[in-house]
Amino acid sequence: MSTEPLVTLNGSTMGTRWSARLASHHDSPDLTIALQEAVDAVDRQMSTWRSDSDLMRLNATAPGRWVDVEAELIAVLEIAAEVTAASNGAFDIGVGEAVRAWGFGRAQGQIDESAIRTALGQQLRATVECDRGAGRARRLNDRNLDLSGVAKGFAVDQMAKVLLQRSVSGFVVGLDGEIVANGLRPDGRPWAVALEQPDPSRRTARGVIEVTNRALATSGDYRHRVQLGTDWLSHTIDPRSGAPARNRLASVTVLADDCARADAWATALMVLGETEGPVIARNKKIEAVFLIRDGAQFKEITTLRD
Ligand code: ADP
Ligand code: MG
Repeated sequence: MSTEPLVTLNGSTMGTRWSARLASHHDSPDLTIALQEAVDAVDRQMSTWRSDSDLMRLNATAPGRWVDVEAELIAVLEIAAEVTAASNGAFDIGVGEAVRAWGFGRAQGQIDESAIRTALGQQLRATVECDRGAGRARRLNDRNLDLSGVAKGFAVDQMAKVLLQRSVSGFVVGLDGEIVANGLRPDGRPWAVALEQPDPSRRTARGVIEVTNRALATSGDYRHRVQLGTDWLSHTIDPRSGAPARNRLASVTVLADDCARADAWATALMVLGETEGPVIARNKKIEAVFLIRDGAQFKEITTLRD
């Protein structure tokens, strides 16, 4: 058991900040640079905020035509397709146009009513083909691809990989609500991760889970939202209707072996809602905590294994 102090590293990316807490001392400046490079590489490839990202080049290229892309983007496209299939289409990266139409992402509160009418009632399923060997991908329909529901989780996996490659084994890395915890704290205990109380006005913890060698992601309706009349719309789109998901879920936290899948599943379960979500989670052996609005309180359903 070590009593060495924790080291905290951080930096900014994707409009937010990443952080890493290490259980022991390592060459911090060098690690900070390597971690920043790992998240920046994901941002460069998968951002919808920069028109020169590989993803946006794919979106700007006509369906059927191949685009050269890096291995990380292919890995994320494959994970996305896997979660789409397992969630009965509740997670689908084909929501890009609907995300814009409803005023999320780069559109920031600008609702486009005619684009909404086009998105509504449409099945937004994207079909993408990847050619791993040749390092290329192509869209097979004209759906606008959006990886924001999975890329942050993948970026956290990439940070964890950087640390493991440098023989750092006790750490927690995170980006917003996406986290990977590995090994143990300096005192030999598992890492304690806070579950957030769904509250748009402040950040408070509602509970703590102890984790080691696990990834964790939370999606909620309480932080990214736009107002339409007296209604608040969540930035989670139901790809089966083209509209923001409407249900009583305030948040979903998913635990998984990797953070990209945890992230994608958290979004998928938000779409599936308080009834279908827990059923599919149990069926697919997805460990999740659902917080359901119940008046001013929250009801909790978990599918966690002990
Ligand atoms: P957060 O940013 O709170 O971690 P998520 O991981 O749930 O949120 O990602 C939400 C983002 O994912 C949205 O802003 C949108 O760009 C995209 N998105 C929304 N609905 C879906 C969906 N059903 N499937 C895949 N991506 C989605
Ligand atoms: Mg997500």
